[in-house]
Amino acid sequence: LIQSKIHLITEEVAASVLSKRYGDTHKGSYGRAFIIAGSVGMSGAAILASKTALRCGAGLLRTAVPESLIPILENQLIEGITVPVKEMLDKGIINYLKEENVVAIGPGCGRSQEFEEILHTVITSARLPLVIDADGLNLLANNIHLLKDLKAPCIITPHPGEMSRLTGLSIQEVNDHRLEVAKNFSEKWGVITLLKGARTVITDPQGQIFINRTGNPGMATAGSGDVLTGMITGLLSQGVEPLQAAIVSAYLHGKAGDRAAEELGEYSMLAGDIIDQVPFVIQEII
Ligand code: AMP
Ligand code: MG
Repeated sequence: LIQSKIHLITEEVAASVLSKRYGDTHKGSYGRAFIIAGSVGMSGAAILASKTALRCGAGLLRTAVPESLIPILENQLIEGITVPVKEMLDKGIINYLKEENVVAIGPGCGRSQEFEEILHTVITSARLPLVIDADGLNLLANNIHLLKDLKAPCIITPHPGEMSRLTGLSIQEVNDHRLEVAKNFSEKWGVITLLKGARTVITDPQGQIFINRTGNPGMATAGSGDVLTGMITGLLSQGVEPLQAAIVSAYLHGKAGDRAAEELGEYSMLAGDIIDQVPFVIQEII
C-alpha cells in the first residue's frame, strides 16, 4: 500500500470524461444498456437503476425482471424497455445480449436460481463490460472463483457487508482496512472494485487507488446504491472506459446526493431524490 499512489477524485476528472454530445448522432451513438434486476417486493431497485442509466445518457435501455414485475416497470419507467428474465433463458443468455454495450446485474434481484444461472453465464461467457451489485454480489460470494473466467472488464460495487461476504473478512476488518481490502480484491480477481461508504474507494487490477470525497450521510438510505449502479451502467453504455466510469460515477453520485441534501436535508432525502439531481450535476460539469 505504501508504494501505491492514491488519487483523489476531482471535478476536473469528471469533466474530462463527460464529453459534450455531437450534433450528428442518434440514440445508437450512446449505446445500449442492459440491466438485470428486481424481484417481488424489490421492483424499486430495478426502477432506480434503470431510470438513472437513462438520466446519465444511455441511448437505449432494456431491463430484465421477473415476469410479474413487468407491469410495474412499464408503468414507472416509460422510456425503458422491459423484458422477462425467463425470455433471456429461453432465447439463450449470450445471444440475448449480443447487441448490448454493457450489462449490469444485481439490484434487488434476490437470490433465485434463475439469476444465479444468468450471473454464472454472463461472468464466464459475455464479452461486454459487466457491473455486479447487491444480490448479484451475494450470489457471486458462493462462487467467487467464477471471476477467473471473466471475458471482459468487470466492476463490482459492494458495500462493506457485501465485501465481507465476498472476502470472508468481518465487516469490521473491511472497514478498518478499506484501501487494502479493495486493492487486494482487485489484484486477486482482476476486477475494478468500488467499495462503498463514506469515502468510496475504487481500485483496479493494476493496483491504482482512487478515493471519492463527495457524498453525505443522507445517502445512507434504501436504494442509494441502485442509483450508483445505474450511473456506471449509463456511462459504460456510451463507451466510457470502465475505470473512468466507476470513478466518475462515484463522484457524480456523491455530488447529486449533496445537492439533494441541500434541498431536502440528510434526514429526508430519498434515493429517487438523488436521481432528480443528476441532470443538474451533469450540466454543471460539462
Ligand atoms: P447501498 O448500501 O448499496 O444502498 O449504497 C449506498 C450508497 O450511498 C453508496 O454509494 C455509498 O457510498 C453512499 N453512502 C452511504 N452512506 C454514506 C455516507 N455516510 N457518506 C457518503 N456516502 C454514503
Ligand atoms: Mg446496494
